[in-house]
Amino acid sequence: MRHIKDVNLKGKRVLLRVDFNVPTDGNGNITDDTRIRKSLPTMQKLIGDGARTILITHLGRPKGEFDEKYSLKNVAKRISEIIGREVIFTQSLLGEEVTDMVNNMKDSDVMLLENIRFYKGETGGDMEFAKELAKLGDAYVNNAFGTVHRNHASVSLLAGLFPNDHYFGFLMEREVENLSYLLGNPKHPFTAIIGGSKISGKIDVLDNLIPKVDNMIIGGGMRYTFTKALGGKIGNSLHEDDKLGVALDLVDKMKKHNVNLYLPIDCIVIDDFRNDANCQLVKGDEIPDGWEAVDCGPKSIELFREVILKSQTILWNGPMGVFEMPNFAKGTFGVARAVAEATQNGAFSVAGGGDSISALQQLDMMDKMSFVSTGGGAMLEFLSGIELPGLKYMK
Ligand code: AMP
Repeated sequence: MRHIKDVNLKGKRVLLRVDFNVPTDGNGNITDDTRIRKSLPTMQKLIGDGARTILITHLGRPKGEFDEKYSLKNVAKRISEIIGREVIFTQSLLGEEVTDMVNNMKDSDVMLLENIRFYKGETGGDMEFAKELAKLGDAYVNNAFGTVHRNHASVSLLAGLFPNDHYFGFLMEREVENLSYLLGNPKHPFTAIIGGSKISGKIDVLDNLIPKVDNMIIGGGMRYTFTKALGGKIGNSLHEDDKLGVALDLVDKMKKHNVNLYLPIDCIVIDDFRNDANCQLVKGDEIPDGWEAVDCGPKSIELFREVILKSQTILWNGPMGVFEMPNFAKGTFGVARAVAEATQNGAFSVAGGGDSISALQQLDMMDKMSFVSTGGGAMLEFLSGIELPGLKYMK
């Protein structure tokens, strides 16, 4: 793995692909700058070495043309505040003006190119577009783990255009190392806790993890597809009828690999989808008609805690219930607390996915995990074991 920590890129024009797709309010103000801060060590290293850093990122999903709403103007300002130096901001990405600005950069200067998704060539994975971009730099650094599963020009093609001058940034390296550990030879017992609304989107990751884990805890809405497939009563709970067969195949595979499957043994059900709806505690596979399960019950939380505390390696992705409603966050918070406790006792834990991160933030427990992945979809695809477009040329 070629890493920027092993080189000094002084005087070089470095194209640094980052994921500064930060959340904003309706007026373009940044509401959380974590993603920018996550790349601070990489930016500092390049600035310290005297490289000329050219930042490339996307923001939101513009339709391949300029759209004021997705301009990086405020992002440039915030980067500037975080790194403590001026950021040169280009209104466009390509063309003579940008080339001139790049040519006028001095050592340690930092430039931010306007939103790369204003160009159709980015999401189209267009090689000609990538070649134009490549002309702006002498080296390429990829630190955008959150987009590593996308076949987008600046993510998947640029590394190949700098065959001897592409490098992992610090964030990227940590993501790949920690997630690779889970797929390699982790300590046992290894417990995966997978939640969220739907089984679709998580089938590949479940399939790939089964031969590697000892325990599989499945919670959230997706567990009702399993429960229905196994003959349980799920009332009005979320489920996917077209995935019942897949769920049974996964259960069979778990049996074959001696994986202990834990589904919530009790759950909270409601009669209307609101925080203050009528609710009752029922058995996990005996949900009455007209009621919908939205969280695990206390027995499940205790059972999961016991399993988690006996684990040496833990992966957690996805909420155990509709945790956005405060009354139904207990399962998700219970899992977060148990993983934190296990980590304190010496287990290695990895958490990821936007909802798990949000739960950890609410509990002020971000630093209680061994590692928190910044990539939601990217993390799941990585753990599915498939070759990711953004890593194809990164050697
Ligand atoms: P996903 O995007 O598939 O990871 O799912 C995340 C969403 O799953 C969150 O917004 C949760 O509110 C939702 N969720 C978790 N448990 C349930 C449940 N039992 N019923 C409906 N939605 C759920």
